[in-house]
Formats: sequence, C-alpha cells, structure tokens
Amino acid sequence: MAERAADRGAAAPSLRLAPDRLFPPDATVRAIAQRLYEQVKDLPIVSPHGHTDPRWFAENAPFPDPATLFIVPDHYIFRMLHSQGIPLERLGVPSADGSAVESDPRKIWRLFAENYHLFRATPSRYWFEHALAEVLGVAIRLSAETADTVYDAVAARLQSADCRPRALYERFNIEVIATTESPLDPLEHHKALRASNWRGRVVTAYRPDPVVDPEFDGFAANVSELGRITGCDTGSWQGYLAAHRQRRQYFAEMGATSTDHGHPTSRTADLSPREAEALYGKVRGGKATAEEAELFRAQMLTEMARMSLEDGLVMQIHPGSLRNHSRAIYRRFGRDKGFDIPTPTDYVRALRPLLDKFGEESRLTLILFTLDETAYSRELAPLAGVYPALRLGPAWWFYDSPEGMRRYREAVTETAGFYNTVGFNDDTRAFLSIPARHDTARRVDCAYLAELVADHRLEEDEAHEVAGELAYRLAKKAYKL
Ligand SMILES: [Zn+2]
Repeated sequence: MAERAADRGAAAPSLRLAPDRLFPPDATVRAIAQRLYEQVKDLPIVSPHGHTDPRWFAENAPFPDPATLFIVPDHYIFRMLHSQGIPLERLGVPSADGSAVESDPRKIWRLFAENYHLFRATPSRYWFEHALAEVLGVAIRLSAETADTVYDAVAARLQSADCRPRALYERFNIEVIATTESPLDPLEHHKALRASNWRGRVVTAYRPDPVVDPEFDGFAANVSELGRITGCDTGSWQGYLAAHRQRRQYFAEMGATSTDHGHPTSRTADLSPREAEALYGKVRGGKATAEEAELFRAQMLTEMARMSLEDGLVMQIHPGSLRNHSRAIYRRFGRDKGFDIPTPTDYVRALRPLLDKFGEESRLTLILFTLDETAYSRELAPLAGVYPALRLGPAWWFYDSPEGMRRYREAVTETAGFYNTVGFNDDTRAFLSIPARHDTARRVDCAYLAELVADHRLEEDEAHEVAGELAYRLAKKAYKL
C-alpha cells in the first residue's frame, strides 16, 4: 500500500501557492501591494472571534484522521458536496438520532477528492490548499487519483509533534485566540489552560443564545440550569438578569473580553422594567408567540448593552441567518449543517431603541456583522460612521472570501473610514485554516490599499500604517485584547 502510494505521489501534480496570489494583475498596483504586504505578512495573528475547541489546546492531543479534521465538521465543505446530491451520511456527518453514518475516514476522504472540482474558485479550496501546502507540507494537488497519497501524507503529518494544537498555535504566530461558549458551559478547558504553564492565550466569549432566545432548543430547561449554576432565582426577571451578570463575570475571569449574539434579526427594544418582567414570565412559561419571542430577544440585546457598560465586555451581533432552513436535515442532523441561509436584515430601525439609549456611549463597543451586503453602504457604514458606540465587523461567513472582503472595503470605507472597522475575524472552527484566512484578509486589504495609492487617494506611507492597523492593531484595540 505504502509503495503504491509513493508511486502515485511521484507522478502526482504538485500543489504550489503563488507568492502573488490575490494581488492585482496590473504591474504598478501589484508592486505597491507587494510592498504593503511585506510589512504585515508576519504580524502576529489576533483572532478575537471564532469557534475552535478549547479542548484542543487544553489537552494538546494530535488531531485525528484527515477526514475528521477537514471534512466531517466543516459545513462549508459538506454543504457543497450535499448540493450535488451527496448525502451527509456518506460524509460521516454525525446524525442527531444516532443512526448509522459512514465511519471510514478514508472512504469519506476519497468521496471529497473525487468531487474536489466542485470547490474551484471557492474560499474552501483556497483555505484547504493553504493548510495542505503551508501547514502540513503536503504539496500534492488533490484529485481522485491522488486521494490515497494525500490521505496517507496528511495522516502521517498529523501524528508529528509540530502538528499538535499547541505547536500549531505557536507556528501560526497566534497572539490570542477567542473561542465561543454558552453561559451553561463550565469552561473546564479554559480553567485548565489558565492553570497550565503554556504561554498560549486562549480566551472565551459569552454567547448567551441558548438562555436568551425563547425559540432555542430547550430554552426553559436552559434557563433553569442557568439558575442552578449561578444560585440565582431565574424564576424572576431580576434573578435572571443577576444570573447573566454573574456568569458574564465568570467568563471575564476566564479571559473573555466580548459577548456574541446570533439573533435572527438585529431588532432591539427598550421596554419598561414592568413590561420586560411580564414578557419574561411569558417566554419562561413557554407561552410566548413568535412576535413575543422576537421582542424578548430584542429586549435582551439592550440588557446586554447595559451590562456591557458595567463590565466592559465588547458586544457583537451576528444577525440575519435563517437557521436550519431544511427542517428534515435539522431533525436528522441537528444545528450547523450548512442549512443556515442569509435573509435581508434591517439595522436602521431595528437598532434605534438600543442606540437611543446607549449609542452615544464611547465606553460601549457594539460590533455589527451582516449577511446582507446591501446593508453595508445603505445602513451599516452610515450608522458606524456616526454613533461612537458602533463598529463594523469584517466580512462574515459567506462573504469571508476574496471577493466578499473586497466588496466590504469598497462599500464601507468612504462613509465609515478604516477606523470604525475592527480588523479581521476568522470566525472558524477549522483550526488549520486560520493562517490562510488571515493571510487572505491581509492580501485583499493590501490590494485595496495599493489601488488607493496608485490613484493618489492615499500616500504610500499612510497605506503602510493602515495595513498594519487592519492586520493587527484594530482587532486588539476594538476587542480590548
Ligand atoms: Zn461566529
């Protein structure tokens, strides 16, 4: 088997990352972009928002086989394969009901390799090839023919000491990385990390959707659990708020500098305490209508902003995803299976109750994200371009891509400038893709800045400064890292 793989490897087409990738084709602009990139390419990675598993860093065990690392947990990968008729079962995606799915990682990998052409011109391919060539040193192009050779090479590399999670953290030159946890999470891995003598900085972020969203699975039980772990009486509105305060403080002790809110809309509300209390009674009793559930989420954004003013946690809103679009897939496989679809999102009216109350507070940082690109120039850049409490998060999810990042800069810069944005978030659970994602953002930003220099809207020394802000300093500052 090994011999056959080596034979095929010798004939396999090699994978090479072009040094000029993602730079403008025009020679003058390209040369400027290269000079800008030279200054930022080796800056440390600040990853203020993402979904890596703190267990990796706490336990530092080798990553498992190539399929379990690259395919099974990556909804960017399996949604594309699924769209061409490949059942999630065959890709090893675990079922919610425990029914059988493919468990042979090599078979899953071969299926991915046979369909690799589907990823042409997608960021998934770009991230994957960067991980393969740069992180793992496996410079072979993936195809049906090279599937086994690449699999064996990757599997072997994953067992080596320099591919363990902590070694990769160091090789990636990460300065700090944030994970995202529910208030119900005991944060045991974060606790272990803080007690260890490893110098890596892994912090948590407070993501209260399971206890804030009445339509979240198990909401009532989650709220009871929140009461149990905090010792607060979550049967009452005041007790529920006190439980959040206490939990936020515990998260802050575990390094958190931010909260994150994944609501369907960016709606906010400013109810009187009496109205809020009555609404809480309804949602907790499972009696709320869809409109009341939405109003409760809206009120909770304002409550979270109030708490942020007290405890200093930076607030993020990630709205506009209609989650679990396919009910059948949701029933069979659960959340986060690629069926989260963007919807139009209103910010101007939706945020007004919160902004009326706290928008002028420069001690509050509220970072807005969108899956509705039409909102960038019409709503988000004008809002962030005037309210001191607001900042714009980078291009997100479907738009965390070369084209998406370029459109973002083009749509927001003239109104919001660079300094109302917050650098880059990789927002990923795919640890090996982190360097590729940050490198993509740095290249795209340098390409954009180079164009501004070439048409004399910016001096090159200013562009150098901005490139450093976008790659590193703005994220540290906005997220208080
Ligand atoms: Zn996220």
